[in-house]
Amino acid sequence: MNVKNLTGYRPPTCGCKSYKEHWEKSTNSTFNKCARKGCGNYADVGGHVINCHGNASAVWYIVPLCNSCNSIPTDECYELNSWVVPVRVTDKSTC
Ligand SMILES: [Zn+2]
Ligand SMILES: [Zn+2]
Repeated sequence: MNVKNLTGYRPPTCGCKSYKEHWEKSTNSTFNKCARKGCGNYADVGGHVINCHGNASAVWYIVPLCNSCNSIPTDECYELNSWVVPVRVTDKSTC
């Protein structure tokens, strides 16, 4: 999946304390490496991304990102590692 970052921080509305927690609950796993292909850092935050060809009204996903990759300009497309499970921001089934 190719994605781009969304700007601005929107606090979770699902009851999770952070998007890290949201992603971990949804995937039943713990943060480890950053989701961006080619990046070897550990993930710091649950970053907001959308499909590269989408606009802000596209589905918003949370993926584990390091602070550096979470700061990639919003017009820059990048590829996610194949193991990454993008979690919908609005998916509250496991919160
Ligand atoms: Zn949640
Ligand atoms: Zn990274």
